[in-house]
Amino acid sequence: MSGWRRFALPLLALGVALAVGWSQRELALVLTLVVLVVSLRQTLPPQPSSNLTRSGAYHSAASSTQSSALTEGEALPLSRSDLARFFLALDRAPVAILWLDARGRVRWLNDTAQGWLSYRAPMRQPLHVSWLLPYPEWWQELAAGSGGVIERVFFQEGVEKRWRLSWWPQNDGGLLWIEDSSERHRVDAMRRDFVANVSHELRTPLTLVIGYLETALEDAAGAQYDALPSYLERAHREAQRMLRLIQDLLQLAELEGTLPPKRLWLSVGEVLAQAEAQARALARPGQEVIVLWPEKDYQLLADAHELTMALGNLVSNAVRYTPPPGSIELGCRETAPGQLALYVRDSGIGIAPEHLPRLTERFYRVDRARSRASGGTGLGLAIVAHVAQRHEAKLSVRSEVGVGSEFSLVFPAQAWKDQSLTRQTSQR
Ligand code: ADP
Repeated sequence: MSGWRRFALPLLALGVALAVGWSQRELALVLTLVVLVVSLRQTLPPQPSSNLTRSGAYHSAASSTQSSALTEGEALPLSRSDLARFFLALDRAPVAILWLDARGRVRWLNDTAQGWLSYRAPMRQPLHVSWLLPYPEWWQELAAGSGGVIERVFFQEGVEKRWRLSWWPQNDGGLLWIEDSSERHRVDAMRRDFVANVSHELRTPLTLVIGYLETALEDAAGAQYDALPSYLERAHREAQRMLRLIQDLLQLAELEGTLPPKRLWLSVGEVLAQAEAQARALARPGQEVIVLWPEKDYQLLADAHELTMALGNLVSNAVRYTPPPGSIELGCRETAPGQLALYVRDSGIGIAPEHLPRLTERFYRVDRARSRASGGTGLGLAIVAHVAQRHEAKLSVRSEVGVGSEFSLVFPAQAWKDQSLTRQTSQR
């Protein structure tokens, strides 16, 4: 296989893979590069490699390209300047791209990589990539698997940097792709801190306002004064809603923070009992709360506070979106492959399929008026999704309009165990 083909295929794969996680600008760039590479594969001109001038650095890669293009006798509409422009575009890409040989030595790297890795190529002997990375062990971690991604935080001249390194191995080498997400993380952290600070600042005065409104309501009730309570009650209700919104925003900020969840082995029975108590406290007349107690002694590795928060939101939704008469059922079940699902099922209004993919977006509501009227903030499922993500669990939803919904937190095999099984084994 020619050098160019080896180069083009990984880039093509990268373009497709990055389509999932990249911004439109970056994605457009990658796809442009991919298209260029593909067209180059088909139409590379037969020019001597020694004449090729470009700003990036390479070791012998271009020459093998030229000869293979000649022997295959392909069409030649692309000029040398087209090729130079293509390399220039690669050089200017806002990611570091390194093409390594089978022994991990750098055959080619773009300008961005040269800048970030402080490596001014070409050098007489190609360097091994571990010499260039801030920490050589990163390369061992990447090369140990059959291709993967690692994200690392380090300090460069006193500034915190966050790099995401992706390794795309081929038979005879591969591509190393480095993205610098430091700025994005800094902006994310600023946004998070801002929302958390504003919410925090608003909480205290709002609590005070609610206190005064409650006193005013009590006074008005005592004075048997008719006109006042209607708008006082409304003000009180809205202030309560604002407080819930602020509390949800603070919870989200906490979940988005850098502190990992405090995971301990929890009894699933006790977790369900807590959720049941929440459901009974919220349930309205005509709503039946049912718990299907597990037959086994399941233990779950989870953060108790976060799990209560997530189940609390699911229970609250089930109650709010189930008009009486109706039922709210809680339980857990083993699902394939080796997973454990904690679920909250209701016989409520249900959700049309087109809304399901967007439910966990902040402030996404199927029916805004209904959500507001029932005291919703539009943040409940975003919180649940965050908790799930922090526990490597999945939030799964099944719903049918007019029949009801089932929301489940599905935990992977390593996050749960059957304690009764452990006891039986140790008794033998
Ligand atoms: P909200 O505070 O509006 O309930 P959530 O993030 O908790 O916000 O839920 C998002 C939307 O998903 C809700 O507005 C509602 O339309 C829908 N939803 C959530 N849970 C249920 C449920 N159990 N039954 C029907 N619809 C639901």
